[in-house]
Amino acid sequence: MKLNRRNFLKLVAAMGATAFVTNYKAEIVKALEEVKDYWHICWLNGAACTGCTISFAQAADPDIVEILTSITVGNSRLPIALPDYMETIHPASGWLAEHLKEKWKNGAKGRRILIVEGAIQKEGYCVIGGKDFREHVKEAIDYADYIIAFGACACFGGIPSSNPNPSGAMGLQEFLKEIGRADLASKVINIPCCPGHPDHLVITLASVMLGMKLELDNYNRPKLFFGKNMHLEICPYRSYYDMGIFTTKPGEEGCRYKFGCKGPDVYTDCALRKWNNHVSYCVQVGAPCIGCAEPGFPDRFLPFYEPVTNRRPFFNIDPNYIWVGGAVLAGATAYKVKKKEE
Ligand code: SF4
Ligand code: SF4
Ligand code: SF4
Repeated sequence: MKLNRRNFLKLVAAMGATAFVTNYKAEIVKALEEVKDYWHICWLNGAACTGCTISFAQAADPDIVEILTSITVGNSRLPIALPDYMETIHPASGWLAEHLKEKWKNGAKGRRILIVEGAIQKEGYCVIGGKDFREHVKEAIDYADYIIAFGACACFGGIPSSNPNPSGAMGLQEFLKEIGRADLASKVINIPCCPGHPDHLVITLASVMLGMKLELDNYNRPKLFFGKNMHLEICPYRSYYDMGIFTTKPGEEGCRYKFGCKGPDVYTDCALRKWNNHVSYCVQVGAPCIGCAEPGFPDRFLPFYEPVTNRRPFFNIDPNYIWVGGAVLAGATAYKVKKKEE
């Protein structure tokens, strides 16, 4: 199937883009050839381990460097998207690097995307080029046509914000609200997970550049990737759960629920898309899902190796218990009504 811009957008909307990236690599590239604007990317790193940069840079199929540099706008020979500033991997350093950031803001012809990796901390905890990271973000946001928070830290605070959070780390949306920019907070596209998945970012970038408005959920995550409950809708171990076959340690065959799998609370496509060039994912290698796609990670999901219902008996109850509870309640009500009629 040859993809032009129109078909690409239709396919993304219809397929949920699950196996899409590997299967349609050449077609995505083809569709991107129809991009008319130049896109300039500024990638800021706050309180981050840079795992998200590594995850993105190692996207193997399609290769992200190939995507960003081999496709040109018309006959101009200029790439459609230039990562103007990406401090962890660009060769420039010192004042030259800061100059690139200024150039992204003021000198770039075309449209701009700001990608934030890492949490934002209280003043004084993260200083780059003599300027607090908070100021770097404040200055960049007004120049961006699109703002993307990539990885759990940038979206919701992630590991840097875990208890006791001495540096006051928080996600980008929370920070924007704190500085009175709720208008921009609502426009942030959140792509969580720890690290962020390269497919999620590649398809989001391609969609944005091709003019597609991505539908977002209540946490501003693209529904395309974060619209399905892992436990209820896509987990290949679900039949084990239904049969009551549970693992209690790595290496055993069965559902990881009693081993602490947080799948019932998690909305992400990891079970279908998988990681490391679509080879495997946490549950498949024997570990429980620890909920890195969700707000509140990691604290909300501690202890990692305890079943979900052991932690919070009143909230996020296993949906199966809701069915049972509903049936019992309905039965009791019917009995009461019948008794009253008698
Ligand atoms: S989300 Fe995870 S991988 Fe990405 S910067 Fe934060 S800790 Fe590192
Ligand atoms: S608890 Fe985890 S492993 Fe078990 S079915 Fe649900 S998502 Fe899959
Ligand atoms: S399976 Fe769970 S812990 Fe693993 S990457 Fe996906 S959301 Fe995160």
